[in-house]
Amino acid sequence: MKKPKIAVIGSSSMDLVVTSKRRPLAGETVLGESFETVPGGKGANQAVAAARLGADVHMIGCVGDDSYGNEILENLKANGVNTGYVKPVTHQKSGTAHIILAEEDNSIVVVKGANDCVTPDYVKEALPLLKGCDLIMIQQEVPEETVLETARLCGEIGVPLLLNPAPARELPDEVIEKAAYLTPNEHEAGILFKGLDLSKALSDYPDKLLITEGAAGVRYHDGNGEQLIPSFSVKVVDTTGAGDTFNAAFGTAIAEGQSMKESLRFANRAASLSVTGFGAQGGMPTRDEVERGLA
Ligand code: ATP
Repeated sequence: MKKPKIAVIGSSSMDLVVTSKRRPLAGETVLGESFETVPGGKGANQAVAAARLGADVHMIGCVGDDSYGNEILENLKANGVNTGYVKPVTHQKSGTAHIILAEEDNSIVVVKGANDCVTPDYVKEALPLLKGCDLIMIQQEVPEETVLETARLCGEIGVPLLLNPAPARELPDEVIEKAAYLTPNEHEAGILFKGLDLSKALSDYPDKLLITEGAAGVRYHDGNGEQLIPSFSVKVVDTTGAGDTFNAAFGTAIAEGQSMKESLRFANRAASLSVTGFGAQGGMPTRDEVERGLA
């Protein structure tokens, strides 16, 4: 099978994770139980997942000129991601997510930091690389104008764009039209199509709109009718990163030339394996693990 060349334009961050019996009230200090730093960010997660699945992955992103920036870069390299276009910037800190995992509920503060430096101009600097790719992937943790410009560039250079519209925000119709594949979850699809009946949206965008439905799998329209490709039944440890693994696996398979149905089955298998491990990247499977599960 051909090794696809994929560019992932997107965010990277360090997740600072505290576990605590409960979250502090306003003005209160509580003692936590544990603290861990875990590399994350949708862009970096998708790049790592695609590299583990055997794609030739090139990340286009920005990190701060700080120790987290180094750790983020080292983690990408250790997973086989090409980092020639991951730029350290001096005037911003690396992106961080400050997560409190409490027994009753969790809370997260995200600071975008250097991810805001992934601008349209920076993406244009990578044009020589982008032109030679089989697929370009992007998510919405970078500025909105970057998503818009990337969609335009993909149209110009004739490289298919996989847009994972997460976190949710409304998108200009132009971006929806220009993307080759759109992969919202049900909540994001509701925002993207502004309350339109999702069955109608699916039939308006056959073989493009792929709505993920958690443990149920993924829904799309194949031109003849709506299809649900079921996911695999697994013992769930942590669902963080399921969507990122799904996108990376779908992107890898479709860029290899697998059919839509095969690619979605491959993506479900990879994403279902990812929820059996802790952390976004912790459970991301290798190619062998996915193929064993499909045999
Ligand atoms: P997240 O934000 O948790 O990363 P998401 O909300 O973007 O995920 P989901 O629709 O929850 O996306 O999940 C994406 C894919 O992951 C699903 O289509 C499915 O293939 C797989 N998946 C998620 N949860 C499960 C589960 N409990 N069992 C099996 N597969 C799952």
